Amino acid sequence: MAASARFRLPPLPTIREIIKLFRLQAAKQLSQNFLLDLRLTDKIVRKAGDLTGAHVYEVGPGPGGITRSILNANIAELLVVEKDTRFIPGLQMLCDAAPGKLRIVHGDVLTFKIEKAFPESVKRLWEDDPPKVHIIGNLPFSVSTPLIIKWLENIALKNGPFAYGRSQMTLTFQKEVAERLVATTGSKQRSRLSIMAQYLCTVKHLFTIPGQAFVPKPEVDVGVVHFTPLIQPKIQQPFKMVEKVVKNAFQFRRKYCYRGLGMLFPEAQRLESTGRLLQLADIDPTLRPTQLSVLHFKSLCDIYRMMCDEDPQLFAYNFREELRQKKRKTVEKEEEEEEESY
Ligand code: SAM
Repeated sequence: MAASARFRLPPLPTIREIIKLFRLQAAKQLSQNFLLDLRLTDKIVRKAGDLTGAHVYEVGPGPGGITRSILNANIAELLVVEKDTRFIPGLQMLCDAAPGKLRIVHGDVLTFKIEKAFPESVKRLWEDDPPKVHIIGNLPFSVSTPLIIKWLENIALKNGPFAYGRSQMTLTFQKEVAERLVATTGSKQRSRLSIMAQYLCTVKHLFTIPGQAFVPKPEVDVGVVHFTPLIQPKIQQPFKMVEKVVKNAFQFRRKYCYRGLGMLFPEAQRLESTGRLLQLADIDPTLRPTQLSVLHFKSLCDIYRMMCDEDPQLFAYNFREELRQKKRKTVEKEEEEEEESY
């Protein structure tokens, strides 16, 4: 029997014509920047990996440039989630042109439950090769950064899009954010995001799209980043704990790392506990946060976990709260003294 023919979309109006036809002027306040060049959208989809037979989740399809490239990639099905109703009729046109391939959801990617959307049969064990589930999206930068943090936590918990296994993601970010995501130990761009992404995923900055490729043109260039969740995270402590250690370490980026890490501990025990943390983790206190490797963070998180087990109140400690209380006490004391002097 002959193999089934590869699906191609029939000739359609261009994305520019769709924008005109449905009056889809980009809403500046929503940071909508569209990709009209289908060679570029094809490149994003090609670089996402082999999508043959895949279930694809596209976030923020807008006028549908990337959507078209995905539909032409021999996929099993595509589910798109778009927040702005104005785009739905244009997407409906693609749906009619690709019968049975495209499902459109008017919704918010930050709350949409993708874990129920694809058939159970696509699920793979975490230790297996990644499932045929891909996430692709060119979202506003204000959404893509909180979303990747949320999805990194989903990876740690193996839920959300990762209930299917190690689903791969190809997403766009402001170029500087893309550089932070892949920044290596000691580099200028090394930041919280580098550690959080790299302890859970293999992260690749695939290529950069110059700002002028978008309509309207954003102020910045755009990086396309690919994530494959690791079978074994490089740090095996709860996500929130890793997040806390990493956040504190980078609190004072330019100072020695002991300064930021010290903020994990109440002031009264700060010096002693920070010394103990760094000594047991075998880390030079005069390294800068940017010089700490993921392995350093693994040691820090393991020792911090041990210290939290010894002192069950430690994890809830927040140095900003201690500062606030201290300030409040000083004000109250001053008020009392004023009253007494009457
Ligand atoms: N993907 C299209 C492209 O490349 O031309 C559009 C890109 S535009 C930067 C971002 C799209 O994401 C817009 O269509 C916008 O309405 C949509 N969007 C923004 N926030 C969203 C959210 N929270 N959930 C779903 N879609 C969202």
